[in-house]
Amino acid sequence: MVRPVQTRRCVVIGAGVLGASIAARLAAAGMNVTLLDQDEPGRGTSRWSFAWVNSNDKGPRRYHDLNHAGLRAWAQLAPALDGAAWYRPAGNLELATSAAGRAELAMRVCRLTGWGYPARLVDAAEAAEIEPALRPPGPDTMTAWFPDEAYLLTEPLIERLIARAAARGATLLTGEQGRVTGLDAAPGRAPRVRTAAGAVLAADEVVCCAGRWTPGLAALAGAPGTVPLVAWDAHGSPAPALVVRVGPVTPAAPVRVLHAPGIFLRPHPGGLLQLEAPDTPVDLHTPEAELRHQAGELLRRASRTVRGLEEARVVAYQVCVRPLPADEVSIVGRLPGAEWLYVAVTHSGVTLAAHLSRHIAAELVSGGPSAELAPYRPDRFAGTNTPAPGR
Ligand SMILES: Cc1cc2nc3c(=O)[nH]c(=O)nc-3n(C[C@H](O)[C@H](O)[C@H](O)COP(=O)(O)OP(=O)(O)OC[C@H]3O[C@@H](n4cnc5c(N)ncnc54)[C@H](O)[C@@H]3O)c2cc1C
Repeated sequence: MVRPVQTRRCVVIGAGVLGASIAARLAAAGMNVTLLDQDEPGRGTSRWSFAWVNSNDKGPRRYHDLNHAGLRAWAQLAPALDGAAWYRPAGNLELATSAAGRAELAMRVCRLTGWGYPARLVDAAEAAEIEPALRPPGPDTMTAWFPDEAYLLTEPLIERLIARAAARGATLLTGEQGRVTGLDAAPGRAPRVRTAAGAVLAADEVVCCAGRWTPGLAALAGAPGTVPLVAWDAHGSPAPALVVRVGPVTPAAPVRVLHAPGIFLRPHPGGLLQLEAPDTPVDLHTPEAELRHQAGELLRRASRTVRGLEEARVVAYQVCVRPLPADEVSIVGRLPGAEWLYVAVTHSGVTLAAHLSRHIAAELVSGGPSAELAPYRPDRFAGTNTPAPGR
């Protein structure tokens, strides 16, 4: 039998976009929530994320629908959570110049519109109206417009989610007080979370939202190998990416999310642009000089694509690591072998956090499984060889 929600204690590990979203929902539902992070909130992957809210190229169909629901969930939440500070429904323009790129873009737009996802091809004049900073594209360029897509400013967002949780009684512990060093559950006893500061927190529910660090926490709980992520610290791993911030930009700088061959960009607070590229060969072992060189290269590519960067230089760069489930889709639910530990780890966590957290909180509060989360349970990996990532 599920006890009244007000009497139930929940420890959420990890105060990134996912953990903060779940903590806010559980606290709003009346649970007694403690949110732990080894760092300041939002300093993990969420901090440097491109944070583009989209379901632009997500398959299969049900995963597309999950991400599409993510777009709507942020749009719904924004008015109630000071969205002006973090929600940027800017839309996204995508350019393709090669024959293969144009064919793929046209097919994708066709597929997405068939799935009820707003997308259309636009001519050069309309593209220039949508994004006046775009340099005139060549005659062979195809451009698509995705008006419902957005980007989020994760730091002010996470601040607000945590403030919302705290206003409903949640406690945030950070640093050594928040760093989890032990997890166990003896039969018939409440699970216990041990911290580096020596505290032992008993809980009715333990929810692990530790992003790329989740496999380590699963191992602490006695369930190693149950959360297969792409090995992010290996040489040549596809999980790390170089993120670059450049500025100052002139008033004529881009206002949309923009994807062009070789460069992705969007505005960032402080008069900056955030850049990323699909093909930057970096990992956690790339030497500093090479990172600096690659950052400069991204600025050059951006300057060739948009106006407004004439005075810009590289202001910051960072190798940021995606939590990439081995089969690329979210891992959400109780761990086989340690069912008392509920995990939530996903790529596209910025897109998905508002929607996933709603379902996760509903499961934890009601005790009943969410049908929408059924395809994403950790037990899909049990007894099988981990599937290789597709792309
Ligand atoms: C370059 C890049 C671009 C991306 N672009 C997009 C995008 O455009 N759109 C999108 O939707 N997604 C994007 N993503 C993915 C998205 O950013 C992540 O899925 C999301 O940020 C994950 O959030 P999280 O809360 O799960 O993890 P994190 O933000 O990493 O938070 C995990 C937290 O757990 C804490 N923690 C870890 N271990 C412990 C411990 N032992 N004790 C206590 N705390 C602990 C960490 O300190 C951290 O704060 C991108 C990722 C990268 C790297």
